[in-house]
Amino acid sequence: MATNIKLPQDRNVSMDKVRNIGIIAHINAGKTTTTERILFYTGKIHKIGVIDEGTTTTDTMEQEKEKGITIQSACITTFWKNCRFNIIDTPGHVDFTAEVERSLRVLDGAIMVFDGNAGVQAQSETVWRQADKYQVPRLIFVNKMDKIGADLDMVLESIEDKLAAPVVTMVMPLGKEHDFNGVIDLLHQKMLIWDQDDKGVKFTRKDIDPKYQSAVNSARAKMIEKIAAEDDVLMEKFLNEQPISVDELKKALRSAVINSRLFPIYCGSAWRNKAVQPILDAVVDFLPSPLDLPPVEGFDPDTNQTITRKHHQDEPLSALLFKVQTDPHVGTLSYIRIYSGTLRAGSQVYNITKKKSERLGRLLLMHADKRESIEQGFAGEIVAAIGLKESTTGDTLCTKEQPISLTPIQFSDPVISLAIEPATTVDQEKMGTALNKLTSEDPTFRVSYDHETGQTIIAGMGELYLEIIVDRLKREFAVSVKTGTPQVAYKETISTAAEGEGKYIHQSGGHGQYGHCKIKIEPKPRSEGYEFVNAIRGAAIPKNFIPAIEKGIKETLQKGILAGFPVTDIKVTVYDGSYHEVDSSDNAFKLAAAAAIKDAFVKARPLILEPIMKMEVNTPTDFLGTVIGDLSSRRGQISGSTESGKSATVNAAIPLEAVRGYATVIRSLTQGRGSFYMEPSHYQPVPNSIQQKLTTSNSPSSPKE
Ligand code: GDP
Repeated sequence: MATNIKLPQDRNVSMDKVRNIGIIAHINAGKTTTTERILFYTGKIHKIGVIDEGTTTTDTMEQEKEKGITIQSACITTFWKNCRFNIIDTPGHVDFTAEVERSLRVLDGAIMVFDGNAGVQAQSETVWRQADKYQVPRLIFVNKMDKIGADLDMVLESIEDKLAAPVVTMVMPLGKEHDFNGVIDLLHQKMLIWDQDDKGVKFTRKDIDPKYQSAVNSARAKMIEKIAAEDDVLMEKFLNEQPISVDELKKALRSAVINSRLFPIYCGSAWRNKAVQPILDAVVDFLPSPLDLPPVEGFDPDTNQTITRKHHQDEPLSALLFKVQTDPHVGTLSYIRIYSGTLRAGSQVYNITKKKSERLGRLLLMHADKRESIEQGFAGEIVAAIGLKESTTGDTLCTKEQPISLTPIQFSDPVISLAIEPATTVDQEKMGTALNKLTSEDPTFRVSYDHETGQTIIAGMGELYLEIIVDRLKREFAVSVKTGTPQVAYKETISTAAEGEGKYIHQSGGHGQYGHCKIKIEPKPRSEGYEFVNAIRGAAIPKNFIPAIEKGIKETLQKGILAGFPVTDIKVTVYDGSYHEVDSSDNAFKLAAAAAIKDAFVKARPLILEPIMKMEVNTPTDFLGTVIGDLSSRRGQISGSTESGKSATVNAAIPLEAVRGYATVIRSLTQGRGSFYMEPSHYQPVPNSIQQKLTTSNSPSSPKE
């Protein structure tokens, strides 16, 4: 571990005691309830908010309360056993996947919550993989142990089976379902029982009841074996049957967790206020402090060389802006993770992504119940800044003298769009400003203007997301809009290579026009986008016209050729052409290129692609057949279904077009008892019949110059 760093007195802790953590889960597994209890036990809030009544602390926005989902990732500072936890809240709904990605990017460790009777659900798998991608060390909290059918062994199997994750069980549940009342702490060999107060603040720590001793012995031996396997000295002791101390086990486990080699499992019931505290102790014992992390990597934007910075306040500044929030009191709040150096209130910072210097206003630490002004933020900390106007989500902040660009967060393209129109002229004026604010908050939210229809198009990752945007326009910005029907974001592509030629030549009288080019197009692998190559040798086309050619191609591809959808996964090479000394111009080459790409495109067996969703439907078994039948009739590919007791789960891949408004469908199919989850998976060609329909109903757009 690097040398420890003392933070100022008012922070109460040194850097080794800081934990930047997030709580991640499948929607409804209990992330909000668990967060709420954590804030309660760490003394930050005095009354437990109840999610079903919409009074929780981290769900700050009106709509979140109504829908019972957490959209915004607020970062809340709180304390437990001399450690400072910065809890970065992550949204549970996949329409807000960008929020999850960006929070994972900045947190150092996570608590993954699973539903004790559902095990690994579709979204838990997705967030688990996201956490793998960012190498986030994790603890597992199996929640809802009080629920009928809750079963720690079943969850364990499902984790090993679906996630293939190396886990180590740290507790044994005491009591089942309604009678669940605590856990046996296998590490310290104690029974922890919550039988004293309703809020679960106090609990009893007892020696193990002899009736459990043999089960504990075998569970503990398994735990020790898994931990010892991570440390040569301990393994030897284990094999020689020598005693291994709790401290030795803790040390080895800490190192294994930090390196994502082991994921310790705990269990409890957040809702019943039982067995939440052991997971807080585990955060202290096993999740990393910023000092445990490898130096942060970035690159020099001028030389493209990799640069590393230690997590130390004396290093040059490197920080990532991971969240912009519009706050009714202070305007824009920018959440910043500081990786190295120091951020001072009132100072200038350099935004290398935007290539602009900006002045920071106040710096704040956000607590659940108050905001605390601070003078400086240090490496390893997460702060909220007021006053940044140009900087948006994903930007790197540093100094002009020692620039560094941190690897940006990658976001996928939106899969659904909606036309909106201001209801009145007053709304018209306010709408632009409001939409600008919303795009600066979320990089997956896109706004465009359709010149042909005069409509504003908003696009995002799901129907629910767009619904919430429209609602926010109304509530937060007082803008009323009329909306169209959500449209699926189709794309066009090609299935084979082809060549094309385009000419734009008018030389009859006056100043003429001359542009001529030949191009080749080839398909690129799915989701690799667009690539342009200039392969002109010699003087067929002077260099200065190449940008105009690229512009003509890009604009045409953007508008779509077959049915008005943007073209993707295509490589375009311009390899020949001709020019005229006097008559050639940028415009002539742009139009020639547009003609060339259209010529090639129609010869390249064009296809229309549609977004496919990964879907999981939960239903009472009585309706299983009906649900499967309905999914199949919607072009769904069923990948499997499981039944457990009276409920069943169906997994499918299904076109987004076929499941628009599915919330209503599932309600009526299952008498209101079914639920579903879906997320964008990939793009794939639509069947021929649909391609024909789309091609005839969307007349190809032609460039209007
Ligand atoms: P999130 O979507 O992951 O944030 O989940 P919530 O915290 O909103 O919880 C979803 C639902 O599960 C709510 O109705 C909670 O009251 C309920 N819930 C949460 N934790 C528990 C628990 O430990 N036991 C039981 N039985 N229900 C719980």
